[in-house]
Amino acid sequence: MSRIAYVNGRYVTHGDAVVHVEDRGYQFADGVYEVVLVHHGGLVDEEPHLDRLDRSLRELRIDQPMRRAPLRQVMREMIRRNRLGDGMVYIQATRGVARRDHPFPANTRPALVMTARRLGLPALAQTEEGVAVLTIPDIRWARCDIKSVSLLPNVLGKQRAREAGAYEAWQVTTDDFVTEGTSTNAWIVTPAGELVTRHPGNEILSGITRATMIALAAEQGISFVERPFTVAEAKGAREAFVTSATSFLTPVTQIDDVVIGNGKAGSLSVRLLDAYLAHAGSSGPSS
Ligand code: PMP
Repeated sequence: MSRIAYVNGRYVTHGDAVVHVEDRGYQFADGVYEVVLVHHGGLVDEEPHLDRLDRSLRELRIDQPMRRAPLRQVMREMIRRNRLGDGMVYIQATRGVARRDHPFPANTRPALVMTARRLGLPALAQTEEGVAVLTIPDIRWARCDIKSVSLLPNVLGKQRAREAGAYEAWQVTTDDFVTEGTSTNAWIVTPAGELVTRHPGNEILSGITRATMIALAAEQGISFVERPFTVAEAKGAREAFVTSATSFLTPVTQIDDVVIGNGKAGSLSVRLLDAYLAHAGSSGPSS
């Protein structure tokens, strides 16, 4: 069965899914995106993702390419046409196609594309043994709260991590505070057992998985605080992990050359991952 993509109003086979060379997303990274997890055919945290998409569009003054109800329909149609059980839907909206010129074009309609792809649960080895992260300077712009397709620093950071044999790179400010991963939010558990992640602000993308995890931690009575933490504090943490729609909760057991905890996924991380899997499982097939 061939994969199907959605391109500006049409469902096309993946290989034929093309946009114009003067799409401003292509030329200026003038666009935003969302990645929504699909679990057992159901969209996980659909509404918060669509709320964040609206917010990103508003912040960049790009008109909504489609209203919420039909957008939900297209996402479901993508799941159906791609026979997706476990996977993800990728949504990208740009300011549209116009002659290349920096100012916003007049009378240009925003463009909307969607792709879908299969994706399994994180491997057991990864959730039991954890992964390594590398710390790198945060060289991004001052509006990381917008889910913009302008991801070059993130791409370069992730590549550095992979070349060093690490799963992710944690980006660090000049005063040594961890902002977030290149495609994940960063968390630690202090020696006193307090769960910590950076507060939302312009320096990080406010992850939907992050928000869900905070709610799940509250339900479990886990003490939690939103505040910046340094690389040194992270290296002395009892546990560490990253979250995102596609990496769920992935335990971090090494930061640079320092082993975290006993080098295996910590008990709080395991508890939260189980709670998250139950949450994802409760999304149910999309109707
Ligand atoms: N930070 C960045 C920079 C990201 O790209 C992502 C993933 N899109 C996240 C955090 C995690 O966000 P979410 O939980 O919504 O996937």
